[in-house]
Amino acid sequence: MFELLAGRHTIASTQLTLGEPEQVVILKGAWEATLVELKELVNPATYDRWISTLTPVGRTGSVISLATNGEFARQWITRKFTEMLAASLSSALGEPVTVQIVLDENAKTEQAPPPSVAKKKPSGSEPAIRRPGFISKYTFDRFVEGNSNRLALAGAQAVAAQPGKKFNPLFIYGGPGLGKTHLLHAIGQQVLARDARSRIVYLTGQVFAEEFIHSVKTGRVGEFRSMQRSVDIWLVDDVQLIAGKDRTQEELFHTFNFLYEGGRQIVICSDRPPRELYLMEERLRSRFESGLVADISPPDFETRAAILIKKAEEEGVELPMDVVDLMADRIQSNIRKLEGSLCRLLAEASLAGRPPTVEMAEEVLRSFFEDTNAGKPSPEALIEASADYHGVTMEEVMGKGRRQAITRARQVAMYLCREVWSLPWKQIGTLFRKDHSSAIYAHKSIGEELVRRPDQQRVLDEIVEAARSKRQH
Ligand code: ADP
Ligand code: MG
Repeated sequence: MFELLAGRHTIASTQLTLGEPEQVVILKGAWEATLVELKELVNPATYDRWISTLTPVGRTGSVISLATNGEFARQWITRKFTEMLAASLSSALGEPVTVQIVLDENAKTEQAPPPSVAKKKPSGSEPAIRRPGFISKYTFDRFVEGNSNRLALAGAQAVAAQPGKKFNPLFIYGGPGLGKTHLLHAIGQQVLARDARSRIVYLTGQVFAEEFIHSVKTGRVGEFRSMQRSVDIWLVDDVQLIAGKDRTQEELFHTFNFLYEGGRQIVICSDRPPRELYLMEERLRSRFESGLVADISPPDFETRAAILIKKAEEEGVELPMDVVDLMADRIQSNIRKLEGSLCRLLAEASLAGRPPTVEMAEEVLRSFFEDTNAGKPSPEALIEASADYHGVTMEEVMGKGRRQAITRARQVAMYLCREVWSLPWKQIGTLFRKDHSSAIYAHKSIGEELVRRPDQQRVLDEIVEAARSKRQH
């Protein structure tokens, strides 16, 4: 068995250097591809809570060992995810493997509070909090600034420098894979680097909901509450995941107010702006809007190129400009995918024993798109499925007609293009030969309707399903 990586939370790709033993490089590349795939397959909260804690630590024959940071996590991941992990790793490696989840050797020491904390804060004064499992590479110096993320980055840096002083709350929103979680972790890690005693809670909306419900069931709400309310910095990721959960929202609202009034820093991330969180109570939405609201949009070409160059540099590889051009041109909307494909490219190049070329990049992009777009119906398929469902034609949906069924089919199709693909408003407008304001309006009215009639979600799911099956024909 060979040892792979030392620390936990180090994601394999960051350590990829050329000239390592071939086996290690292959496993690292496969692991990165597995992460990218699972990120698509499981919900974000599950990914952050369980999958992202894993680190490949070695291989014996066909058994891959993945380490996590606690006994409970080890058992949970073993029960729930080993098959999925094995399937994904097998396909990435091109040979069948099985997976065993082991306990990280460093976990015990890392989870115990540092001695200074124990001395300065005698037990009993404040409830114990878990030290957040920040991903070590999600720091400010590894975050590439661009027009698309400038405000969010500036807000996050200000908050990390002076928590609770400037922008409170800070609300960051944007589509998947654009760096929201990266910024939250960067804030947390910078604050901890300055003062290891800072009380920081990082959790996703989903985890907040799960832990709250668990505390209700076990009669420990008081404990849950005092823990959440004892923090200096409260980082809530993917808050959209509590939409529609009434009691959880209520609890979040009170926690928010308690912390806010105490001058503690609150940072919230979401996949959409507060006013589009239709299934959330109005009072919560307006609280979210009361500080700085910053969006992260998809990066422009220059930023995508800068990210590729920087990430390759971090691996000690200089990318030829034509390779940068090609990759930055093809992968536009999601930095996670940009990273995933770069990682595959570097693994390929390392195996081939020569620098990455445009031909290699073409090949990697081809297989990458086949893998990651599987299952997502194209915008055209969504439009067609919505037209079918409402008994109108695609031409009518794209045309100017205002008959009720046509308008309805059009609005639903616009809404789904936004939900499934996170397309920019302008692009949706163009796609439907309308302007961006009609796309925004359509999204808003369908979203609001879902609040009044949640059962309508079933109809939308059906349309997406129909679109998905079109794609295969
Ligand atoms: P989100 O939470 O918005 O879905 P993440 O924060 O998980 O996205 O980012 C996805 C990946 O892209 C991460 O590996 C992150 O480090 C990387 N990333 C995103 N934005 C940037 C950036 N501006 N510079 C460097 N890396 C970035
Ligand atoms: Mg995230």
